[in-house]
Amino acid sequence: MARDPRCDILFEPVKIGPVTAKNRFYQVPHCTGMGWLRPRTLAEMRGVKAEGGWGVVCTEYNSIHPSSDDLPHPSASLWDDGDIRAHALMTEKVHEHGALAGAELWYGGARTANLHTREVPMDIGSFPNLAGHPFQTRAMDKTDIRTLRRWHRKAALRARDAGFDIVYVYATHGYLLSNFLNPRVNTRGDEYGGSLENRTRLVRELIEETKDAVGDRCAVAVRFAADEKTGEDGVPIHGERRDMFEMLAELPDLWDINIADYSLEMGVSRFVKEAPLEPYMDFVKSVTSKPVVTVGRFTSPDTMVSQVKRGVTDLIGAARPSIADPFLPKKIEEGRPETIRECIGCNICYSGDTIGVPIRCTQNPTMGEEWRRGWHPEKIAPKTSQAKILIVGAGPTGLEAARALGARGYKVMLAEASRDLGGRVTRESALPGMSEYARVRDYREQALLDLPNVEVFRESALSAEDVLDVGADHVAIATGATWRRDRFDGERFVSIAAPGTTPEILTADDIMAGRMPSGATLVYDEDNYYLGGVIAERVKQAVVPVTLCTPSDSVSDWAGKTSERWRIRSHLMRAGGGIELAHSLTRFDGQHAVLTCEYSGAEKELPVSSVVMVTQRRPNDGLYHDILSRAGGDPDALPFTLKRIGDCEAPGIIAAATHAGHRYARELDAAVDPDEPLKHDRVDVG
Ligand code: ADP
Ligand code: SF4
Repeated sequence: MARDPRCDILFEPVKIGPVTAKNRFYQVPHCTGMGWLRPRTLAEMRGVKAEGGWGVVCTEYNSIHPSSDDLPHPSASLWDDGDIRAHALMTEKVHEHGALAGAELWYGGARTANLHTREVPMDIGSFPNLAGHPFQTRAMDKTDIRTLRRWHRKAALRARDAGFDIVYVYATHGYLLSNFLNPRVNTRGDEYGGSLENRTRLVRELIEETKDAVGDRCAVAVRFAADEKTGEDGVPIHGERRDMFEMLAELPDLWDINIADYSLEMGVSRFVKEAPLEPYMDFVKSVTSKPVVTVGRFTSPDTMVSQVKRGVTDLIGAARPSIADPFLPKKIEEGRPETIRECIGCNICYSGDTIGVPIRCTQNPTMGEEWRRGWHPEKIAPKTSQAKILIVGAGPTGLEAARALGARGYKVMLAEASRDLGGRVTRESALPGMSEYARVRDYREQALLDLPNVEVFRESALSAEDVLDVGADHVAIATGATWRRDRFDGERFVSIAAPGTTPEILTADDIMAGRMPSGATLVYDEDNYYLGGVIAERVKQAVVPVTLCTPSDSVSDWAGKTSERWRIRSHLMRAGGGIELAHSLTRFDGQHAVLTCEYSGAEKELPVSSVVMVTQRRPNDGLYHDILSRAGGDPDALPFTLKRIGDCEAPGIIAAATHAGHRYARELDAAVDPDEPLKHDRVDVG
């Protein structure tokens, strides 16, 4: 199909200094949890994005020297010739598809503790480590600044030799160069501090020196924040940023514009919707003649066209939309935007880097699996038999299994107990702010419309008898999991009901099903991810007061890995919810909840009439065991293969569910050695 002519503007080439991007789709630098540790994994993943039509594909940040080392968060590096060879794997793959490759040069300053290299970190002054490690930086003297410039130049030359087309000077996100620009941080008394001109000096020198080193062949881009400090969402505090920008406006070949508040720039969809940076961009295009790129979790072609037409940006920057759908540009180009797998804004992709493992994505189960499992987001092996497959349960696991098996050409029956498909994502997306989670279901439901070989049976709660009657060759049980009413005390699941009482103890499932408490409520969170906070907000809409209690030291502790913890807590505080940290809920009699301090064991009572438990989940594996029992517990005695997948096998995050469904579909009838299911990327030893 031809593309919508309104989208033609997105496919215009853009000249960036000495190179030209074939279109306006620009994958900005983003972390992957791969970096220099997993070069083949990384190269294949970036290559798939280029294949998907992105005109520019960048790396994550590249450390220019071992004194900027972010492990356990794996960054890329340009320290030596070995790095040139490793990066060449990526640039070759990107060039194969006519895209430009970009490398972001990076020096972390007080944000890195150099835990791996044990080099002394440097910054403007003797600062504490901003990631919370008990190390300080050495205050840079003029020799250090000269040395840094030399390292930067050498790294730029290595980037060029590795085949990169765009080389970045990275002056945002609280790293060293942004500290030089910041009037509150940079109080140096020499020519690199004080006046605006002095604070801008180092960035100017690095732009000029990078151009001098590689500018004949590579474009030089600068990443720059359009505002000076974090304010209210959507209300920029520009401060002197415009003046600073005017001083540098024509120096680089490309401006990549960010903002001060990372939790807004890369905000989760619960709190931040598409195109949040637009108010911050108001002066940028009018001050420079150079091309500009910025981000906004753009998934709608209409928004993209509007951003370009209204002069907000020249290039459509994307990290997350390119992760959720590496083929987003191709799908727009081929006139099938309805098949875009839209990012849901959950930031699970970001958690890979924060934990130190390769990236994964809730929407795109092939992300990070391109090299080691050979998975491609748009291609899948055709069926190898005429087998009929029954999938029971149409949550994210069952939907993805049905979609991917359908794409392979198998005859698939998908049975779902309720009228609506989507399982947990349908339930969770009805909670405050969570509507975009429904995209996990919507993308798959849309895909099933094009697969006549997949039959969907709604309102079909299957029993073991029903399953046996279907006559399928393969059966996958994807019946999900149910939130528990008890809690795990470290060794076993225990009830919190005080002896002899039957108090109102609800679960997250009750709240999602619309069963609300009627008086003061305690939401008890042992899950520690986003759901406890959202459930507290939902309950708060119905009753007050609401208190969130967790045995953890912070609200939604794990959500720190997805960069949303701070927002969850501040949101809860603004809404007036109470917070009890480091306490376990040990007893409840319907009038008082007994909270036990994690450290001292001291008990205190909170007067509440209801408790909502967000603790652990129980796999809904009754059907699986019923079927097995018909064969005396021996799966080989069944007339079909039987597998439980997703939350029914082991409850986890939604990304684990879509991955499980996808894996089931890939591995059905395929020769996968269970003892060696994947390739192992490692630094060569021979
Ligand atoms: P997952 O995250 O693994 O996909 P979910 O809990 O989101 O799990 O989805 C499981 C789905 O399975 C739900 O939509 C539920 O209605 C459905 N289901 C549970 N038991 C049965 C059954 N016996 N027959 C058909 N569907 C079922
Ligand atoms: Fe979007 Fe979530 Fe995928 Fe990240 S993990 S790209 S936020 S859907």
